[in-house]
Amino acid sequence: MSRGSKLKFFFGTMGSGKSTQALQIHHNLTTRGLQVLLVSQLDREEGRVSSRLGVSAAAQIVTPDSDLLSIARAFVMGEGLDAIVCDEAQFYSPEQIEQLAQVVDLLSVDVFAFGLLTSFQGELFPGTARLLELADERSELQVEARCYCGNRATHNARLVDGRQVYAGALKVVGDTADRSEDSTTYELRCRLHWHQELWAQQGRQLQLPTDHGADVIELKVKAVENEKADQ
Ligand SMILES: [Zn+2]
Repeated sequence: MSRGSKLKFFFGTMGSGKSTQALQIHHNLTTRGLQVLLVSQLDREEGRVSSRLGVSAAAQIVTPDSDLLSIARAFVMGEGLDAIVCDEAQFYSPEQIEQLAQVVDLLSVDVFAFGLLTSFQGELFPGTARLLELADERSELQVEARCYCGNRATHNARLVDGRQVYAGALKVVGDTADRSEDSTTYELRCRLHWHQELWAQQGRQLQLPTDHGADVIELKVKAVENEKADQ
């Protein structure tokens, strides 16, 4: 029934051009006369997908309650639907990713989903994990983003007042809108420099119980050696 329709997932870091690519595919398909639905997330700019390069297009907004299969079915019954292009797909729920797979398999509509691979916590977004599990094709967008050290940036770091954080809400309201008045910012890092602040924090925690951490560790080593000698 699906006549070769596919669920394609394109992933990359922030700034890897996901929205630009989403808009490009949307443009290419619509200029071929196809019916294409562009969808994005709630707190993207009101009903639009826009790229950092200045291009934008009207989009249908997905909320956590949206049933993507129902939305797609309504279009199929109405003006028709050939493809759905999804921006910010990492924020869709795993159930909504299932719905996208059903859109492909039951309605024969192609789905192009664009999203981040991992969060500022360094782990897969739930929606991304489901996309990786269900997609027919997965492609990494190879835009050469760089860490401040010059190595390829593969991780997204969240900074609050300029300091990297590893805990907090997965999604901060206004994440993708203008953040000029917000203390939360994002930077791209290589794996080493994404971890560095975390290790520093853990190191401080290890030294917290005593002012003379090194002395205590040395004493413990001696105690263990004495125990061994006694046996
Ligand atoms: Zn680096």
